[in-house]
Amino acid sequence: MHKPILGIISPCYNEELVLNQTSMQLNTIIKDLISKNIISENSFIAFIDDGSVDNTWKIIKDNSNNFTNIKGLKLAKNVGHQNALLAGLLTYKNEADALISIDADLQDDISVIEEMISKFSQGTDVVYGVRKERKTDSFFKRNTALLFYKLMKKMRVNLVYNHADFRLCSKRVLNALEEYGEVNLFLRGIIPTIGFNQGVVYYDRLERLAGKSKYSFLKMMSFAWNGITSFSNYPLRLVTIIGFVIFFLCLIMSAYALFGLYTGNYVPGWLSTVLPMYFLGGVQLFCFGIIGEYIGKIYSEVKKRPRYFIDKKID
Ligand code: UDP
Ligand code: MG
Repeated sequence: MHKPILGIISPCYNEELVLNQTSMQLNTIIKDLISKNIISENSFIAFIDDGSVDNTWKIIKDNSNNFTNIKGLKLAKNVGHQNALLAGLLTYKNEADALISIDADLQDDISVIEEMISKFSQGTDVVYGVRKERKTDSFFKRNTALLFYKLMKKMRVNLVYNHADFRLCSKRVLNALEEYGEVNLFLRGIIPTIGFNQGVVYYDRLERLAGKSKYSFLKMMSFAWNGITSFSNYPLRLVTIIGFVIFFLCLIMSAYALFGLYTGNYVPGWLSTVLPMYFLGGVQLFCFGIIGEYIGKIYSEVKKRPRYFIDKKID
């Protein structure tokens, strides 16, 4: 069988402390897979410099001079992890049969790359790297992440549990990805919606090689919020539901109040003050919700997401 060309895409933002080691380790893996005849000798590693302000780009340049399989791409400015990753995937997709994305700090276990490729060779188009557990994350990060996955599930967003952005994608999946024109790209949510054959490999998440996490608390929150609002109208639907429930409760209260009026057991003025408040509140929220539903429709139309991709064709 024809040996696939593999590309490894790694976004780097101020990663001078880890980059030399990362490039050495990835290069060893690539060389090893080439010598085992698993991947083509044209396979490569591409580092995407996401507007770093330290020596990251210099290190990438040195490495690409010293190793034939290392390439570099420098972005004009810092555009964030997701966009840097997208830039790498779309730039290199035509130079490889499959691309694996991995963080530059090598928190993901590169020894499962071989398993990813073997799944790819058996016809799997997307192979997700899934963390077995989160021992190395802080208590806070572990639990906020867990909450995030649960929330996303409630909001009907299809996510692969405990999968970050360590994954293999075939060329046709990347071609499909290119058709998503949205500005706020949430790769973890998009890839499962593309379809084709999808598989999983498991690994243990390690500590960062060196340096600090580039995801501050605020960045993490904005990432989560972006994930929810890019995929779900559920918050809008929630408004409709709350409005309806309040309206319904108001009806029950009216019945109760009228019953009080009938039995003479009431405080004068209370009914005429409180009832319209609940009633109008309920009606207003309900109407907001309905407007929201239409905005939700507009929102999904504006995104112009592709509706299908053709998997196989028999001529
Ligand atoms: N990263 C990036 N641009 C940014 C922030 C991060 O390219 O604006 C890269 C970073 O260099 C790393 C990956 O994204 O390779 C994941 O970042 P990090 O390890 O800091 O996140 P964590 O693992 O703590 O969630
Ligand atoms: Mg990391």
